[in-house]
Amino acid sequence: MDQRPFNRTTSASQASRVRVGLLRLLCLLPAVAILSCAPPRAGEPVDLLIHGALVVTMDAADTVLEDGAVAVKGGEIVAVGPSAAVRREYRGNKTIDGNGRLLVPGMINTHGHAAMTLFRGLADDMPLKTWLEDFIWPAEAEFMNANSVRLGTDLAIAEMLRSGTTTFNDMYFFMDEVGEAAIMKKARELAAEIRRKFKK
Ligand SMILES: [Zn+2]
Repeated sequence: MDQRPFNRTTSASQASRVRVGLLRLLCLLPAVAILSCAPPRAGEPVDLLIHGALVVTMDAADTVLEDGAVAVKGGEIVAVGPSAAVRREYRGNKTIDGNGRLLVPGMINTHGHAAMTLFRGLADDMPLKTWLEDFIWPAEAEFMNANSVRLGTDLAIAEMLRSGTTTFNDMYFFMDEVGEAAIMKKARELAAEIRRKFKK
């Protein structure tokens, strides 16, 4: 018995069913495409969202997040947590991919004389007493005034902020200038004025 005609009929019927199935699938595709292109649910907008960083929180439990995120709004940190969770809740107007980077609270310099950046390299590798009495104090008497203190402090703050120091405790002269420089650069500063009579 020749089975071929029967087989052909069966094959034709199967092919027809496949075609109908394909047509139904094609009809569904636009709906699927629309669903997949729908925008994700918008989170709360924040000014800055840094994600994917190694976040050292310095909280009471010394929490370290390997894939962490920080959301900032109005100059304040509003969220710290795992990237996935923070990104679900917040949408950054500016976003930084922190992959491969360390994110820590700002460092604090507890003892400094910021304006002395102007004397960098003036006299090195000598005992403190010689360095101070023979070089630094005469240079301060000669060159330090409100203007130079402001310039030296501006330079120091720029360098501090660039390398992660956001607060500095400063002890020098013309501290109004130092305070003004810190305000303009949005750094935090604790000030102490040095009172010393220069021998001219
Ligand atoms: Zn000192």
